[in-house]
Amino acid sequence: MNTSPHQSSIELAARLGVDCGVGDVISTSSLGPSLHEVVLGHASRFAGAPGNDIMVRLASSPGHFTRRRYSVRAVDTDRDALTLWITTSHDGSGSRWATNARVGDEVDVVGPRGKITLDHDADWHLFIGDTSGFAAFYRMAQAIETPGRAIFIVEVDALDDVVTSAFDDALGVTGIFIDRQGRGPSDPSGVLSALAAFEFPPDVGHAYLFGEFSVTKAAQVALVDRGLDQDRISRKAYWRAGRNNADGGEPDKSDD
Ligand SMILES: Cc1cc2nc3c(=O)[nH]c(=O)nc-3n(C[C@H](O)[C@H](O)[C@H](O)COP(=O)(O)OP(=O)(O)OC[C@H]3O[C@@H](n4cnc5c(N)ncnc54)[C@H](O)[C@@H]3O)c2cc1C
Repeated sequence: MNTSPHQSSIELAARLGVDCGVGDVISTSSLGPSLHEVVLGHASRFAGAPGNDIMVRLASSPGHFTRRRYSVRAVDTDRDALTLWITTSHDGSGSRWATNARVGDEVDVVGPRGKITLDHDADWHLFIGDTSGFAAFYRMAQAIETPGRAIFIVEVDALDDVVTSAFDDALGVTGIFIDRQGRGPSDPSGVLSALAAFEFPPDVGHAYLFGEFSVTKAAQVALVDRGLDQDRISRKAYWRAGRNNADGGEPDKSDD
């Protein structure tokens, strides 16, 4: 196995103050029509805390490379492995990599990345977004101290795209999965109507919004209107409808 990352990955990791190395694909599988699992070996040190992600360096076109960020779904220190769940219903460098990945393929990994982790003072945790958020949502929910409560409001392209997970029996879990029914990916109406129908539990709650730029933005406004404190809302746009993420992995956040 080649153990040297590209010089640009080494420099990026140094700038970010994180680790860098070469991971190798040890398994891949399809979790549904729009979601692919990729398990990377030699990679557990990049996993960080629930909510964190890694950056991978991928070919975007012959001779060109880009970076994409993926939340860590699970970490297995015995196998020195971490698991990613990657959306594949669109055409992009990341979706092509996940779909075509073969056992033994190598990839530069930089991480851990990300500032949003679990709010341990909250009694209930509300996870809002789309298929791209499943990995982070489920890893974070599995880290909630019991008794506690996890609520998922996740929009999917079709109900076949819903993936579920096992949780501690002492955790209260509510899953609200919204069928997009052909609405555009930046149309927040499905998520907003599910949110409007959902009554906040008592006590302290924290909302985590991961997914499409405009949908997560609209959900954030709706949560503030409902009286949730800004400090209890963590939003990260993962992608933006109609626009490629930049080579640094971030979606366009301009206002137009
Ligand atoms: C912190 C962070 C964590 C992330 N974690 C995850 C994760 O765990 N799983 C995951 O799948 N993605 C995650 N993403 C998004 C991921 O990094 C990529 O941006 C996304 O997968 C698209 O990359 P791409 O190269 O395939 O497509 P791009 O080149 O970015 O986009 C190509 C086209 O596809 C569209 N598109 C992109 N994503 C989607 C989508 N999900 N559904 C429909 N159309 C889309 C774009 O609008 C564009 O038109 C995360 C992003 C960030 C910033």
